[in-house]
Amino acid sequence: AEKLLEVRELTAGFHTERGFLRAVDRVSLSLEAGQTLCVVGESGSGKSVTSLAIMRLLDYSGGTIAGGEIRFRGVDLTELPQREVMRIRGNRLTMVFQDPISALNPVFTAGDQIAESLRVHKGMSPKAAWRKAVDMLRLVGIPDPEMRAGQYPHEMSGGMCQRVVIAMALACDPELIIADEPTTALDVTVQAQILELLQRLKRELRTSILLITHDMGVAAEMADRIAVMYAGAVVEEGTAAAIFERPRHPYTIGLLRSIPGTTGERGTELYTIKGGIPRIEQLPGGCRFHPRCPYAMENCAREEPPLLEAADGHRSACWLTDMPEVMT
Ligand code: SF4
Ligand code: MG
Repeated sequence: AEKLLEVRELTAGFHTERGFLRAVDRVSLSLEAGQTLCVVGESGSGKSVTSLAIMRLLDYSGGTIAGGEIRFRGVDLTELPQREVMRIRGNRLTMVFQDPISALNPVFTAGDQIAESLRVHKGMSPKAAWRKAVDMLRLVGIPDPEMRAGQYPHEMSGGMCQRVVIAMALACDPELIIADEPTTALDVTVQAQILELLQRLKRELRTSILLITHDMGVAAEMADRIAVMYAGAVVEEGTAAAIFERPRHPYTIGLLRSIPGTTGERGTELYTIKGGIPRIEQLPGGCRFHPRCPYAMENCAREEPPLLEAADGHRSACWLTDMPEVMT
C-alpha cells in the first residue's frame, strides 16, 4: 500500500545553554493511507515533540528539527519553506490537540471557526463555508447543529468542544489527522464517545490518523499499527495484533501489564514499571531502558540495541531475541 507518511531518522529537540536536548532521537515511523498509527509512550517519551515536528509547529514551541526526513506523500516537509507548509497544515494535514478549550478561539463562534479554514484553504464563499460548517457539526454528532454553529466555545461542554475541534480538523477533507491525547482532558464517558467518533470517521471518510496516547487501552481500540516510544526513541513497532499478542520489548511488556484486565491476575495489584522515565539530559548509556529493565544483562548498559526486525514487519530494539512468554 502507498505510504502516506514516512518519518525517517527524525531527530528533534531544544537548544539550551547546556547544549542540544534531544527529545526525539532518530525516530522512524510510517503510516499507510486509511490506517491508524498509535504512538504510545509515557509523558516525556518524545511523542508530542514528534507530532509537533511532523506538523512543522515545533519552531513555535522553541524547538528545532535537527535531522531526518518527514515525507508526506513523498514530499519532505522538513525542507519546505513555512509559506508552503501553511498551505498543507490545517488543510491536507490537521491536528487535534489535548485541550479543546484552548484549541478554540473564545471570541469566534463554532461555525465561524470551521468556516474560516474552508474560506482560507478551499476558497469557499462565506455562505457556502457556513453551510459546510453546519454539515460538519452534524457529521461529528452535535445535536441541533444550526443552533450550535452560532454558539461560542464557553457555551458548550468540553466534549462538545472536542467535537467542534474534530469538525474543524476534518472540514477541509485532510489526508492525515494527528490527534495528540485527544481524550485525556475529557471525562471517562465522553472519552469513549470521542474515540468512537474517530473510529467512525476513519471508516466513513477513510481519513488516516496518527494518534498519540499514553494509554495502551486506547491503542488497543484504535490502532492498526503501534509504535512504542521510550525516552525519545521508538523501541518497538508493529501491527496492533503483533504488539498485543507477541510483544518483544520489555518496556512494551510492562506497559501491557499495566492495563487492567490483561494479565488475568484478578484482584492483584496493577503492575507498574519500577522507576521513572529518565530526563533527556541524563539518558543512560547503552539501552535507554536498562535501569528499569527486569531482563537487563551486562551488555545492555554498554551498547545501544538497534531497532531490528524481530518478525515480519515487527521491529524491536532489545538485545534479547527470545522474550519469555508474557501473559503466563
Ligand atoms: Fe532490557 Fe537489555 Fe533489552 Fe534493554 S536491551 S530492553 S536492558 S534486555
Ligand atoms: Mg504530550
